[in-house]
Amino acid sequence: MKPAAFDYHAPTTLDEALALLAAYGDEAKILAGGQSLIPAMNFRLAQPAILVDINPVTTLVGIHAEGDGGLRIGTMTRQRTVEHSDLVAARAPLLAETMPHIAHPQIRNRGTFGGSLAHADPASELPAVAVALGMTLRAQSTRGERDIDATDFFQGLFATALEPDEMLIEVLIPALPARTGTAFAEVARRHGDYAMAGAAAVVTLAEDGTIAACKLVYLSIGDAPVESHSAASALLGVIPTDEAIRAAAEAMEQDIDPLGDIHATAAYRRHLAKVLARRTLASAVARARN
Ligand SMILES: Cc1cc2nc3c(=O)[nH]c(=O)nc-3n(C[C@H](O)[C@H](O)[C@H](O)COP(=O)(O)OP(=O)(O)OC[C@H]3O[C@@H](n4cnc5c(N)ncnc54)[C@H](O)[C@@H]3O)c2cc1C
Repeated sequence: MKPAAFDYHAPTTLDEALALLAAYGDEAKILAGGQSLIPAMNFRLAQPAILVDINPVTTLVGIHAEGDGGLRIGTMTRQRTVEHSDLVAARAPLLAETMPHIAHPQIRNRGTFGGSLAHADPASELPAVAVALGMTLRAQSTRGERDIDATDFFQGLFATALEPDEMLIEVLIPALPARTGTAFAEVARRHGDYAMAGAAAVVTLAEDGTIAACKLVYLSIGDAPVESHSAASALLGVIPTDEAIRAAAEAMEQDIDPLGDIHATAAYRRHLAKVLARRTLASAVARARN
């Protein structure tokens, strides 16, 4: 298939790119890695009149260490660069653990960190991890800059809080508190396929070994990342024994209402969610103890 006709712009600065978005609004689409947009255009599921290719805007690339122990990642940083970054491995091990689950190396060579977040596919790994780690997504337009919490950014199936004239420019990842462990796991038919279900867990222990904070966030379970507040509440203030983790995984069930599709039935997704809760919470607890 070939895409519908479009006008192509390749601005070399952020200001030029934002001016194009301001001029064309929802007629325009940003082209980042093109790994989702180009197939959608070829199938004519997307028919933008204007393509704004931000690949030449080099200021949007980079992984930066923040003074508070956190990270700042430019939207055009390739997924493969994030995967192989020592800084990411040291400061955001959950992200390092997750990256190899995204598609295949060839796709991660082109696919961008910000493109995956802006695309907001509920089967994508990065939106769930963004919510689990409490990332802040920074958007810019000719009207100015604003920061959006990951929990507010993802608004449904391929829908985000971005306005048509806004671009995601960078992502801020907070430092992990002391005694925090993280874990990611997913189930896919073949490595590199979109997952039938996946989960990210972040657990912080108090000095006495009880759980001081806990997040469990799913992908491929709803039309956006799904956070299980019930699992977290079940664990807060308790010693995370195997039994407590099993009880949290049971409690999680009331927070999810998975859909069935050609890849997995709703019942199978519900089963996977429980298994993934146990696995990721247990790993995160073990890592927090170490
Ligand atoms: C065979 C295959 C398998 C895949 N498997 C997986 C997988 O398992 N998990 C997974 O997460 N992904 C998967 N992907 C998708 C891949 O990770 C994409 O790279 C990613 O979803 C989009 O990133 P991109 O940089 O290619 O964005 P593009 O395709 O260029 O853009 C995607 C959308 O985001 C918008 N956009 C991009 N950048 C910005 C920005 N800075 N500001 C605002 N809007 C922006 C675009 O306008 C477009 O609407 C797969 C893709 C393929 C082809």
